[in-house]
Amino acid sequence: MSAGASGKPTIIVEHLDPELEEWQALEYKCIYEECETSTPPWNFLLSGLSSAAGVGKQLSLPSSSVTEQSVEALYQGDRRRNVCLLDPKAEKDLSPEDGEKFDVFLFGGILGDDPPRDRTGELRKMGFEGRRLGQEQMTTDTAARVTRIVVADRQPLGNIPYVDRPDIKLPASTSGHEGAQSGESVSMPFRYVKGKDGKGVMPKGMLDLLASDADKDIMDLL
Ligand code: SAM
Repeated sequence: MSAGASGKPTIIVEHLDPELEEWQALEYKCIYEECETSTPPWNFLLSGLSSAAGVGKQLSLPSSSVTEQSVEALYQGDRRRNVCLLDPKAEKDLSPEDGEKFDVFLFGGILGDDPPRDRTGELRKMGFEGRRLGQEQMTTDTAARVTRIVVADRQPLGNIPYVDRPDIKLPASTSGHEGAQSGESVSMPFRYVKGKDGKGVMPKGMLDLLASDADKDIMDLL
C-alpha cells in the first residue's frame, strides 16, 4: 500500500453541509477512532469546517485532525493525482491495487439522502480521480470502513459481507414521550458492513440518537 509523507495513508472527509449535525459528529468520531486503531494506523483529516477549532473540541478530535481549509486548497497541481475521491457515480470500482496508486482517500461529509442528490459532485468538479464502492449508497463511515478493507486488507469489494437497507430495532428512548417506544424499528436506506453479530456496523451512540429522534422522519436526520 502506498503511503503519504507521514508514512501513513490518509482518509479525508470534506464537510459539505452548512451545519454539523449530531449524526455526522458520531460518524466523524467513528472514522477517526477506526483510523487510529487500525493496523497499521491511518491519518484522518476533517477538512472544510468553519470555526474548525471549536468544532474539533466538540468532536474531541485533536487539532491536527481538523482544518478549515478545503481539500481543494490543500491538494493543488500534481499532489491531486495522489487523491482518490470515493464517488458513487465513478465509472470504476475501488480495487486493492488502488492502494498502490493513491495515498489519500477523499469522502463527502454529506448527510445521506434517498434518492441520492449527487452532492459528491461538488468534489468531483475539483478534478479528483474517482472510484465507486458498488451501486448502493453507504453512510460516510461505512464508505471509509469499506475503503480501508479494500486497500489495507486487500479484499475485493465483492468479498466484504454487507447488510443492505436494514430495519433496525431501536432501544426504548429515555429522552421523553417523543422518543422510540419499546419494539419500534426504523428502516435505514443504506448499505452497511456486516459485523460479527450479523448486524450492520454503526458508530457508537447512533442507535440511541435514532431512538431519541424516533418521532422525526428518518430523512430529516440523515
Ligand atoms: N447522497 C450523497 C450524494 O448525493 O452524493 C452520498 C452521500 S454518502 C452518505 C457520503 C459519502 O460517502 C459520499 O460523498 C462518498 O464519498 C461516499 N460514498 C457513499 N456510498 C458510496 C458508493 N457507493 N461509492 C463511492 N462512494 C460512496
